Amino acid sequence: MTSMNMFERGGTTLVAGEGVRVRDDAGNSYLSATSGLWNVTCGWNHPVIVDAVSEQLRRFSYGTLFRYDHDVARTLAARLLDIAPGRFERVYFSTSGSSANETAVKVLRRYRSLIGQPERRLLVSFDTHSWHGTGIGAMALTGEDLDQEEYGVDRRWNRLLPFPDPFAAERGLGPDEAACREALAELERTEGDRVAAVIVEPILCSGGVLMPPEGFLEEVAAATERMGAHLIVDEVATGFGRTGRMFGAEHTGIRPDVVTMSKGINSGYLPLAATLFPAEVYEAYESSGAYLTHGETQSGNPAACAAALATLEVVEKENLVRRSAEAGARLRKHLDALLQLDIVGEVRGEGLALAVELVRDSRSGEPLSPMEMAMVSHLCQRNGLLVHLSRRCLLLFPPLVVTDAEVDEIAARLTGALKAVR
Ligand code: PLP
Repeated sequence: MTSMNMFERGGTTLVAGEGVRVRDDAGNSYLSATSGLWNVTCGWNHPVIVDAVSEQLRRFSYGTLFRYDHDVARTLAARLLDIAPGRFERVYFSTSGSSANETAVKVLRRYRSLIGQPERRLLVSFDTHSWHGTGIGAMALTGEDLDQEEYGVDRRWNRLLPFPDPFAAERGLGPDEAACREALAELERTEGDRVAAVIVEPILCSGGVLMPPEGFLEEVAAATERMGAHLIVDEVATGFGRTGRMFGAEHTGIRPDVVTMSKGINSGYLPLAATLFPAEVYEAYESSGAYLTHGETQSGNPAACAAALATLEVVEKENLVRRSAEAGARLRKHLDALLQLDIVGEVRGEGLALAVELVRDSRSGEPLSPMEMAMVSHLCQRNGLLVHLSRRCLLLFPPLVVTDAEVDEIAARLTGALKAVR
């Protein structure tokens, strides 16, 4: 997803980080409004996490979960079961958001065979720019265009439903909410008895921080239950305080059957992900004696798990969930003031997951060209601010440890860059 010749023309090489700031090899300092890839929730070089990882590496640097286990994975699994909202009893560790979602899918499809429902193999996800990862299975679930067909992804094993995007719908650029609800009802009517699971993000972050309209996710959850399928909630981007609650689903009335998490799980210090399952799934494997033929060498790496335990300690001690809500509200106020610029069509989000919809003309909603979007990002970087671009939007996901002064600085640098565009 990066044009390599960009580096030949002189890309940016980051070499150091402290708190919410990173530095490149030319000595330039930047405020990160991206938290790496939204995962560095506790900021760079946090002493509690660095110390926990170092200590773990000295004590027991590697342990597999294949025919053995280790104390750090056990402790972390218990902590995750404690804090995740849902009826979960078992945890499966992996290494990325993509692998957490593929784990969910493999486990749930085989589960259906084990309980005598082999015809239930269909997976349902959302096509309006959902993102579940780039592994071949996770990519099939992803609605965003990732050239799936070019890689031979078989789109027959899942169904993609539209997800409401009010900004686009009001301008005739996307499906309206009623059409989305109807597509869900139609799927339930025609193929409900073949569905194994429905997967949804509580807020579609990659898709431009699309917020589900009031009651929409509750309707998805109710339809899933009527179909007799499992509801997988992908909390990879929204988990661990990003949206001002510990998990994104807490903004809604839904109760996931399965949840996937990664990114903020250990503040991005080492690769780690987890998928949480309810009792009946585990018991189906256990009672039939079936093996789950799945696993990665680095699943539940002890140092990655130690980083997660330290991250949870920091999130709790530094009140980072509340901080995310408060800093998010402050940044949101600054962003709302940008609506007076022609180039800003809408501002939306929750906590520190915020999007600014960039437009050529806010009435038609005509987006900027990819070149113009790249120019916005370049101007931000020149102003010492790293931002993330996604579709028509500029995304602001700073670390949750951001101070009020840093929030104001992010807003000032962004304002300067957007004013310089036109
Ligand atoms: N799910 C969601 C909601 C995501 O936003 C992402 C990545 O951005 C993923 C899954 C994939 O995670 P990873 O890049 O760690 O594979």
